Amino acid sequence: MKPSAVAKQVPRLSPGVRAKAARIQVALDRLYPTVPIPLDHTDPFTLLVAVALSAQTTDKKVNQITPRLFEVAGTPAGMAALGSDAIRELIREVGLAPTKARNLEAMARRLLTDFGGEVPRSFEALESLPGVGHKTASVVMSQAFGVPAFPVDTHIHRLATRWGLTDGSSVETTERDLKRLFPESSWNLLHLQIIFFGREYCPARGHNPAVCPICSFAARPEGESRSRARQRGSRPPKRPTAPEGS
Ligand code: SF4
Repeated sequence: MKPSAVAKQVPRLSPGVRAKAARIQVALDRLYPTVPIPLDHTDPFTLLVAVALSAQTTDKKVNQITPRLFEVAGTPAGMAALGSDAIRELIREVGLAPTKARNLEAMARRLLTDFGGEVPRSFEALESLPGVGHKTASVVMSQAFGVPAFPVDTHIHRLATRWGLTDGSSVETTERDLKRLFPESSWNLLHLQIIFFGREYCPARGHNPAVCPICSFAARPEGESRSRARQRGSRPPKRPTAPEGS
């Protein structure tokens, strides 16, 4: 299929949605002018391991167990030498520990045999590693190497859909739409800002869009269909608004 035919299938983003995205970015910059990287690490390898461990586990739990793990397996050689049984014992408090332990040993061996013991600096090479999917690769590219990426986790997918920035049909669509809506230079920061926003406001304070600093002006009305949301595009939802930062 020709590239032009593929491009035609991607729905156009309306000026209204683009304006709303810009307003959301202003609000996020105001709420979170700086954001720390949540997973403790010292280099690309320890970040890769921490991100791989974080699936279906909180960052807090990962940060609790990685110091002991990295003491003995802070390098690909150390991780490969430790072996999956010992890795599993050290990470047993995280979800899916047996699978993650096997993947970590296999990943370390692949880094040693195919990449000279270094974490590769490409999406394709990272995604070829055992247990490393597109989201993990995107986090590593973004946070270890500073390459623009927009990893989409549950918070980001849910909020981007709630805000009408995408149709919510898949995380791939959400990533595509967010990358079209926001400047590439802001992707790495926005990814973290939306995660921090999601953790603080959604759903910790209960679902009340009227008092939410972003949902107050950005959320689609409850029950609005995806197609209706796309049609609405340039019109903001009719609901009482609260000032940003309230
Ligand atoms: S109002 Fe709060 S809980 Fe509801 S979707 Fe927005 S951020 Fe989440």
